[in-house]
Amino acid sequence: MAEKKKTQKEKEPDITFYHPDLLEIPENGLPYLKGYKCRKCGQLDFPKLTPCPTCWGEDFDVVPLSRKGILYSFSDLYIGQPGMATPYICGYIDLPEDIRIFAMLKGDVNTFKCDEEVELTTGPIRKNADGLPIISYMFQKV
Ligand SMILES: [Zn+2]
Repeated sequence: MAEKKKTQKEKEPDITFYHPDLLEIPENGLPYLKGYKCRKCGQLDFPKLTPCPTCWGEDFDVVPLSRKGILYSFSDLYIGQPGMATPYICGYIDLPEDIRIFAMLKGDVNTFKCDEEVELTTGPIRKNADGLPIISYMFQKV
């Protein structure tokens, strides 16, 4: 019996963290979103806008954003990119920093209500070409 020869290196698992400029997952801490504060005028944005839309500055300090916010609006969606499980839920979350975040929501759509508190978490937003999860930020009920 002929053994199949390996001509290519086996593919390594590729669990990708999506949005590395936006999400930080400390080794011994809770994940947080990265706000970008303009060093020139102090405007805080998420995601990073270059140049600053207020003063055209190009230097920013990274500021950890609040992990909890208020759900402004949301919807369940039945069409997604390849690798996305449907339905999934997306919503807008208002943070205390006066920033509105667009993000996927983790949980059952029937359990969410507008104006209720949600908190940052992480989870698979879709699968990559190898069928492995791509991890990013999400919000869930507190
Ligand atoms: Zn600025």
